[in-house]
Amino acid sequence: MNIDFDKILATGAQLADSAKKTAVDLANKGKKQVDLLNAQTRLHKTQRQLGALVYSLAKNGEENDLLVKKYVEAISRIEEEIEELKKREAEQTATESANSPLVYTYTMEQEEPAAETEKVCPQCGALVEEDALFCKHCGTQL
Ligand SMILES: [Zn+2]
Repeated sequence: MNIDFDKILATGAQLADSAKKTAVDLANKGKKQVDLLNAQTRLHKTQRQLGALVYSLAKNGEENDLLVKKYVEAISRIEEEIEELKKREAEQTATESANSPLVYTYTMEQEEPAAETEKVCPQCGALVEEDALFCKHCGTQL
């Protein structure tokens, strides 16, 4: 799914005052789209972490099925969340008039560059990537 954010922002910028209820409804719609984008950002981040983990394991000739499984489960949950958000958005879009003005108030989660920093696992004290979901040593959720 592609969302043309430049277009959305431009449309939002052109918006004059409109009926309060309409503004609230559309703000909710905007929030859903942002939730969706944020979930997709989280998905990409988690997939990248899984990729880095699998690469690191393969490179070192190691296995950690439990940790890989945890990442796969985390990714599945995010994918389910995205499907749910898409479904709700589609339902809502279907009931709206086609040419409503758009209002967006949101905070975007920025996709961060690959982590260069590390933090210490509170459970076992191992050094793990700053944005890792799970400790690669003991599997604790961080
Ligand atoms: Zn740990």
